[in-house]
Parts: sequence; structure tokens; C-alpha cells
Amino acid sequence: MTETPQRERARHPLDLGGKVGVVTGGNRGIGLGIARGLAAAGCDVAVWARDLEQNRKAEEECTGLSGAVAAFSCDVLDEESVIGALAATLARFGRVDGLFANAGIGGGGRTPFTEQTTAEWERMLGVNLLGARRVASHVLQVMVRQIAEGTAKSGRIVLTSSSAAKLGTAFNQHYAASKAGLVAMARGIAVEYGRHNITANALLPGYVRTDMVGDLLANQKFTDRVMPRLAIRRFGEPAEMAGLCIYLMSDLSSYHTGDAITVDGGFTVS
Ligand code: NAP
Repeated sequence: MTETPQRERARHPLDLGGKVGVVTGGNRGIGLGIARGLAAAGCDVAVWARDLEQNRKAEEECTGLSGAVAAFSCDVLDEESVIGALAATLARFGRVDGLFANAGIGGGGRTPFTEQTTAEWERMLGVNLLGARRVASHVLQVMVRQIAEGTAKSGRIVLTSSSAAKLGTAFNQHYAASKAGLVAMARGIAVEYGRHNITANALLPGYVRTDMVGDLLANQKFTDRVMPRLAIRRFGEPAEMAGLCIYLMSDLSSYHTGDAITVDGGFTVS
């Protein structure tokens, strides 16, 4: 009797095995949700953030997932710190295929526009916009080099913006401006780096349960006002930001670039 040869199973297109992603601000909140999702899909993940104890906890929380997760100390405000985190990531994983520039600070949303200080604006734009630029600039150089050397076929940049980039946010214009800037930056990177097979997109979350908005979402007056505007009648969870990121990291998204993709439970369409 002749034996039927075993057919090799094709890899699932969302299997991220062999890829390496960097998630800034990945030690808690939305970033940790993204890091966990990528690692569950097989991606090795480097988490970059400042709080070393929280970094350790994030590594612990990701133990046992399909991909390895390692956290590195990084302050996106500090050029040397970003260069150091990138070097440590390359030493550990040998490559970078995707960047999720997610580190950010919120604005509190309580100070009238005319009372916001220049220092507050500079801090907001410094972390949210210039921080993402600093990280993307260094990572892009690695991606372009890998592609030129033939060790990678493509690269992915995803910037965490916010639905605030689309809406008028009272008392929080500096935050909204920083997030709108990220949408423009993603589009510009998409146009300039598409020829290298590097895509760039912006993720626009709505209200997601994290430390950043903990007080706000616990405020009954606010919840009563916002809940009817959420088509899916609840706030989002960090894990719910991961599905889009897995897709964007995968080969399935190879022709999807320059987009600003909203994941907000229907908030901005209601
Ligand atoms: P979060 O829980 O407060 O987490 C913020 C993350 O950013 C932490 O990991 C923090 O780590 C990191 N971070 C802050 N400053 C940093 C710096 N200078 N260098 C490096 N890392 C820094 O906030 P989140 O809600 O998850 O927010 C994540 C992203 O989503 C932000 O860009 C935010 O604007 C955006 N977003 C959030 C919501 C929401 O409803 N939660 C909605 C729309 C958009 P360390 O403190 O350890 O450095």
C-alpha cells in the first residue's frame, strides 16, 4: 500500500510567529492590551516604558503567551533613552518589524483653553507627538536597513491617536492637537516609506478603561452623558484594541496604509 504524503499545514495569516514588535507605553493600559494581543498571536514583543516595577509586572502578565515579551526602560522624552531601548531590543530579539507608538499622557480636561499654560502645551506635545516622532524616526531607520539587507520584507508603524483627534474636545485642546498631529504624521510616513513596503496607520481609540481615564469614567455625571452616545453601551477594554493591531502587524494588512482607524464602540458615529 502506498502512503499518502502528509500535506504541510499552511500558516494562519494572522500568525505573527517570527515577527518582533515594539510597544511604547506597553506596561499597562492600552499598550499592555496591544502587547498581550500581539504575543498571543506569536509575535515577540519589546515593551518600552519608564516604570521598572510596572515593566516587571507586564512581563509577568504576559508569561505563557505564544510570543516572548521583554520590557525595557524607556522615556520617550529622552533621545538617549530611546536609542538605548532600541539597542537592547535588537540585542534581545535581533530585529524590529512593527512599532506601536502608544506612550502618552492625558490632559485632565478641566482647564479652560485660555488658562492652559505654554508649559502644559509643551509637555503634552513633547510626550504625545514628539515622543512618537523620536521613537518612529529611530525604528524606521532599522526597518529600512533590514529591508535593504533582505532580512525583512516589510515594516509596520502604528501610532496611537485618539477619537479626540476628530472631535472638538473642550478643556483638552492640547491633548486633541497632539493626537491630530499623530494622524498627520502617520499619513506622511505612509507616503514617504510606502516604497520600502513600510505601512503607517493611526489607531483612534474611544473611551477605554485605563488609569488615564479612571477618574473620568468613574464620574457618574460624565457616564450618564456619554453612555447614550456609545452604540455598544459600555466603555472599551484594553484587550479590544489588540485585534486591529494584530491585523496591522500581519501580512494581511500589506496594502493598508495612511489610514486613521477608529475603535470606539460607535462613539464618533452616534
Ligand atoms: P495609561 O494607562 O496612563 O498608560 C500610559 C502609558 O504610557 C504607560 O505605559 C506609561 O508608562 C507610558 N508613558 C507615559 N509617559 C511616557 C514616557 N515619557 N516615556 C515612555 N512611556 C511613557 O494610558 P492609556 O489609556 O493606556 O493610554 C495609552 C495611549 O492611548 C495614549 O497615547 C493615550 O493618549 C491613548 N488613548 C487612550 C484612551 C483611553 O480612553 N484610555 C483613548 C484614546 C487614546 P510609564 O509611566 O511606566 O512610562
